[in-house]
Amino acid sequence: MRARDPFDLTGTVAVVTGGNRGIGLGIAEGLSRAGADVAIWARDKEQSASAVRDLERHGHRAIEVGCDVAEELDVEEATAATVADLGGIDALFVNAGIGAEGDVLGMSLSEWRRVIDVNVGGAFLVARSVGRHMAGRGCGGSIVFTSSIAAHRGFADAPHYAASKAAMLRLSRTLAVELGPAGIRCNTLSPGWIATDLTDQNRADERFGAYVVRRTPAGRWGGPEDLAGPAVFLASKASAFVSGAEILVDGGFSAV
Ligand code: NDP
Repeated sequence: MRARDPFDLTGTVAVVTGGNRGIGLGIAEGLSRAGADVAIWARDKEQSASAVRDLERHGHRAIEVGCDVAEELDVEEATAATVADLGGIDALFVNAGIGAEGDVLGMSLSEWRRVIDVNVGGAFLVARSVGRHMAGRGCGGSIVFTSSIAAHRGFADAPHYAASKAAMLRLSRTLAVELGPAGIRCNTLSPGWIATDLTDQNRADERFGAYVVRRTPAGRWGGPEDLAGPAVFLASKASAFVSGAEILVDGGFSAV
């Protein structure tokens, strides 16, 4: 008998928050192609319905669940709805997030809280809810956070964003310690500059766009599809002994 491909996700149920476009959809596509059933959690129903249609082409289940990750009740209902429909959750991608600009000295408290609430508060609510499900079920699991290279650098003009991404990285490592005994692995994907709606304005700035290409050893912007392989690895048996790790998906940007 042939040994099973360690990257095969047949029979795996994965949740991807913010999976209806951008990096989340790139992750969801990779998981679905590898055999997983996928639930995407996001707010824009139309965008989510379109993403589900794309995912279904791979021949596995795909559902969308309306959810604002910053709302506790939404998150609890999304976990319950996903478990009821797909039978359980084996892999969770804590990916939903918002970008923002502004300098520290000019920033209002409400603007600071807006970003922290979604990026960190949302990550906490989602990881707690699905983590409880995974621990309660006793079958282990894999939780993967989307942080950013911004977690490691001074990121002028986006202090709340950089702080939120650093907090996600630390939350992931802490959960790796807390949930390890329950067989739940927690890891982080930290993308570099990826072409999505979130970076539209950065790419529209020709000088900045060219700087990213020049500064990145791979010589290009990343695309959402660049996250697919690392996501499949972290959801699969191939990474059975990998926990508390961070994978930089930045074309070498951080190595310079
Ligand atoms: P996009 O703006 O393309 O997508 C953001 C996704 O998050 C959408 O699916 C959106 O869905 C969802 N989302 C936003 N707010 C909420 C919310 N309150 N509740 C539920 N879903 C929400 O961004 P990217 O794909 O670029 O970013 C995805 C993640 O990757 C983010 O965490 C971002 O910080 C991170 N990242 C991005 C980088 C880049 O260069 N693009 C680099 C490093 C990290 P909807 O609006 O329908 O709710």
